Amino acid sequence: LALIVQKFGGSSVRDNDRIRHVAQLVVAEKQRGNDVIVAVSAMGKTTNNLVAMAREFSAEPPAREMDMLLASGEQISIAMLAIALHSMGHKAISFTGPQVGIKTDSLHGRARIVGINDAKLRDAIGDGKIVIVAGFQGVTGDLEITTLGRGGSDTTGVALAAALQADRCDIYTDVDGVYTADPRAVPSAQRLNFITYDEMLELASVGAKVLHSRAVELAKIYNVPLRVLSSFEPGPGTMIVQEYKDMEKFVVSGVAIDESESQISILGVPDRPGVAASIFKQIAEAGISVDMIIQDVGTDDLNDISFTVDNEDFKAAKELAEQLKEQLGAGGVVTEEGVAKISVVGVGMKSHSGVAAKLFGALASADIGIKSITTSEICVSCLIDIDSAKKAANAIHEAFGLGNPPQISAKT
Ligand code: ADP
Ligand code: ASP
Ligand code: MG
Repeated sequence: LALIVQKFGGSSVRDNDRIRHVAQLVVAEKQRGNDVIVAVSAMGKTTNNLVAMAREFSAEPPAREMDMLLASGEQISIAMLAIALHSMGHKAISFTGPQVGIKTDSLHGRARIVGINDAKLRDAIGDGKIVIVAGFQGVTGDLEITTLGRGGSDTTGVALAAALQADRCDIYTDVDGVYTADPRAVPSAQRLNFITYDEMLELASVGAKVLHSRAVELAKIYNVPLRVLSSFEPGPGTMIVQEYKDMEKFVVSGVAIDESESQISILGVPDRPGVAASIFKQIAEAGISVDMIIQDVGTDDLNDISFTVDNEDFKAAKELAEQLKEQLGAGGVVTEEGVAKISVVGVGMKSHSGVAAKLFGALASADIGIKSITTSEICVSCLIDIDSAKKAANAIHEAFGLGNPPQISAKT
């Protein structure tokens, strides 16, 4: 008897018809002789609607109350799925994150799971029940409700699979697998049969929202067999694996677009040792996480220091930059709200040169200017104008020949 965790995203449970269909997928898994734990997101656009409702009162509502509000979305969908399963004659029980002891740290809005108390889950499974758990939420040691960050239900699914040593975690969504690029932005994107944890982690962290990056991180650490597939149509999906056969054939396996960043530049910063340390220490202390950093060496012992932050942190970061300008006697602050980051990811970059050159060439041919660049072992990213994001993704996808990737059929 295997234990399978199935996770269903918001579009998969957007209305009662879809919930009924999800119930059928759950029952089918159970009828294959497996125990099933299901993690579910809020129905359709519920989370977005709740955020919008709160923002009618305040641009920055208290983080604790936002978690109270947003956690309610998943409580609706788990109960609805349990009710649907009962109506079809199956034993099912729903639990919120706190009820099954999904313990998190206390960072409201982006909490990290620190442990799961599996006793209640194992009891319910032992009783032959289909167990349904609310995604995206947990509880602190002080019994405060937290959420895991947008897209966090994937992480609930993988964490449950890790805690219960499940045989597989299936992430059901509205695409039939992981593609070489977001198929909504790049029509020629191809589904990948396999992708490594490392590549998927990098893709997720540079903006491919098909999986929450923390989910991939947990899957890699705990060796959870992870699959992405569609709840709308049958198909093999994409397996996320440690390695696959003929991996070296793929220099680049995907392109990702992140349209949620903003850039802030502090101009004319006096060039003294320790200045950058002081700037980024204060930014970190304000709880703002910085993505790309670029320093232009200027003249007269003055430098320009630019960095990007998530749009959510833009206002706070801009205010802090103004304070830092005064504190350091810098020349000025320039900001650009809403820029795009375009990235190429692939394990093959470790052994192939010329990836960055090809990326810059593709952007140049499409007449797209680059604002900043960062690289890691398996990823190159460029910051560009948000209006050029789709055009850039398509040009890069084409330049790397991702429309026709060498298909592979078996893992090593
Ligand atoms: P869910 O609600 O099921 O969690 P999400 O909207 O969070 O679904 O994630 C699925 C979406 O991710 C797809 O509809 C697709 O537009 C987007 N996406 C971005 N990059 C990729 C990619 N490389 N492969 C597949 N889908 C991607
Ligand atoms: N409902 C949450 C969100 O919309 C969590 C999730 O869907 O993964 O972000
Ligand atoms: Mg998601």
